[in-house]
Amino acid sequence: MREILRQGLAAQGLDETKAEPLEAFARAVLERNKVMNLTAITDDADFARLHLLDSAALLRVADFGGKRVVDVGTGAGFPGVPLRILCPDVHMTLLDSTGKRIDFLRETCGQLGLTGVDCVHARAEEFAAARREGFDLAVSRAVAALPVLCELCLPLVKVGGQFLAMKSAQSDEELESALDAITILGGRLADVVDYQIPTSDVTHRVIVIDKVDRTPKQYPRQYGKIKKSPL
Ligand code: SAM
Repeated sequence: MREILRQGLAAQGLDETKAEPLEAFARAVLERNKVMNLTAITDDADFARLHLLDSAALLRVADFGGKRVVDVGTGAGFPGVPLRILCPDVHMTLLDSTGKRIDFLRETCGQLGLTGVDCVHARAEEFAAARREGFDLAVSRAVAALPVLCELCLPLVKVGGQFLAMKSAQSDEELESALDAITILGGRLADVVDYQIPTSDVTHRVIVIDKVDRTPKQYPRQYGKIKKSPL
């Protein structure tokens, strides 16, 4: 795993010495995965590419330096933990509605000595009441279809910030179906970036949404309503 990480980081112009802490995080996930459901990806090389280097690819899309970032539906910590390892001056909030995953992340970040990380057990749509427009960047991978995800994430982003949605490269229709939601929630589609995960032939996509206006107060709605009638 270490060599793949080194190569992948170098290919993106990132600090190769971060291969070591990234691998330490991977080992912690894979060890805990034996007793709780954290990831279906257990092969070392696949883990390095599809979790760690995929997360790192966001650094090519936006400037994370010194930013307050929320990872919505972080699960086992992707993309938030690799981003925090690679950007020590980021303040990262790892948010998930599953308490056991957040407990794992709190414990593991402590063991790895990662400071500047808040591990929060909450639903995104409820967390917005406490931290509305409180983040420079929201990131999210594999949580919900884009119209739903925009309602979970955009209320958390301040005007002038961005929401980066990690999606499959085959997400044209999904994006099309989210254009109204993006506008209603105060966003504006800024870019669609397809990238190849270094050392692999896998192509993924980041949909970049600028927050240009405040999100109207009635959003986010309760999850049942968001799911039943996406914007
Ligand atoms: N982002 C991680 C990744 O890419 O590996 C985890 C993806 S996992 C498939 C989806 C995660 O989103 C789960 O851990 C789930 O608990 C969380 N989730 C789903 N809906 C949520 C919500 N409304 N608020 C917060 N977390 C949510």
